[in-house]
Amino acid sequence: MEFLRFPIDLVGKLDLIDGCDEKMTWALCLNCGEVKFGAICPCPNCQVPSTGHISLDIAFSDHHLSKTTLEDLGRVIETIHEYSDDNELCFWTFIYYVSENHPSILKVNLPPEFASKVPKLLSTIKVPKITIKESAQRKLRKLNKEKRE
Ligand SMILES: [Zn+2]
Repeated sequence: MEFLRFPIDLVGKLDLIDGCDEKMTWALCLNCGEVKFGAICPCPNCQVPSTGHISLDIAFSDHHLSKTTLEDLGRVIETIHEYSDDNELCFWTFIYYVSENHPSILKVNLPPEFASKVPKLLSTIKVPKITIKESAQRKLRKLNKEKRE
């Protein structure tokens, strides 16, 4: 996604990079909402490759979130797409939704051209209610980290 040129502040970035391991990875396609195998592989559903922002791809993988949470977030993406055909607008709307509702994952300052469009679109959307659950992998990493400290 070449439009991904604005910084997205990922919470716990170092922790994510530390635990990066491509084997057995479920990841969310941020373009269409499909839960695919492998965070940096192209999506089998929409053929869009990863975002190119590795920390962002990993943030929406089972390195960080449980598979059911990824599927729930996928439903949010699908819902957003029902309201707009503009992929870029949908992408930022999803990122903004996460930033507003689940700031433990990431926080974003919207690109200026989307700063008013995105909140406006999101306010018209009935987003499914979801609960964010950490993956077992992340819990394990946290435990190991605590033991080391
Ligand atoms: Zn996709």
